[in-house]
Amino acid sequence: MSKTRVFRFAPSPNGLLHLGHAYSAMLNHALADGCGGRFLLRIEDIDQARCRPEYEEAILRDLCWLGLGWETPVRRQSEHFDLYQQALDRLRALGLVYPAFLSRGQIRDLVASKEAKGRPWPRDPDGAPLYPTEERSLDASLTGAWIAEGRQHAWRLNMDAAIAATGGRLTWQEGGRGPAGESGTVVAEPQRWGDVILSRPDAPSSYHLSVTIDDALQGVTDVVRGVDLFHATSVHRLLQRLLDLPEPRYRHHGLVRGSDGRKLSKSNRDTGIAAYRAAGLSPAGLRTLFARDGLVLH
Ligand code: GLU
Repeated sequence: MSKTRVFRFAPSPNGLLHLGHAYSAMLNHALADGCGGRFLLRIEDIDQARCRPEYEEAILRDLCWLGLGWETPVRRQSEHFDLYQQALDRLRALGLVYPAFLSRGQIRDLVASKEAKGRPWPRDPDGAPLYPTEERSLDASLTGAWIAEGRQHAWRLNMDAAIAATGGRLTWQEGGRGPAGESGTVVAEPQRWGDVILSRPDAPSSYHLSVTIDDALQGVTDVVRGVDLFHATSVHRLLQRLLDLPEPRYRHHGLVRGSDGRKLSKSNRDTGIAAYRAAGLSPAGLRTLFARDGLVLH
């Protein structure tokens, strides 16, 4: 008998769901339904400063209105920081993470001073400057003393060491399309992200770490999400390999665009699901809006 497929929708309650989230949730639900699979909802609330209970309530309300049912209990990431910490400890024991002390402002100044000398600083796929790598080689007794003194620090993955530790090419199976039309077997390029953050003072786990752990723990077989997360998959494949976690199938779908053709944002109240509901549109009517962007629900 073939294995039951497991899909998930994993919103962050740091704003209201917009039409793009509705599409992602409806697509995951339809795919699970179509193959007798499971549909899970996961609340990704590691960023406690930005996530709010009232947004979570609004998300549940919107998903109900969409007619989607999900398994309970719902997994809430803020209840599992200990697990992410264990994964971080494992990476630390492998010698693949290091404490990083530069603040956002210091990184900005450093990058600006290098670029002022005419050398472009490398950027990640989201356009953010890569973290400078000098601290990788700081002596552990020195960084230990700084930490003991209470100096604020994050934990970052030493990307070169991590890639070397995987000992080979990393790929994934893409059932959708990447931003440049990538599909089928895609070669992961985690190096494009540099030394990604895995934990920081205001959020004990990062998106990359917790999403990878949770997908594995929840037995997710199919990660279906927006193409804006396509490149993040490279980091997730790397972490899966380092932590001996299974490899799900991936499908990155196109994004619903605003009427001005721009990407939707959570702060954009007029494209929130609640606004469509208030305007009298039915969930079925949303399909017409998705179709406008060439987005199907199968
Ligand atoms: N929590 C992420 C978001 O709201 C989605 C994570 C994922 O689907 O991998 O953008």
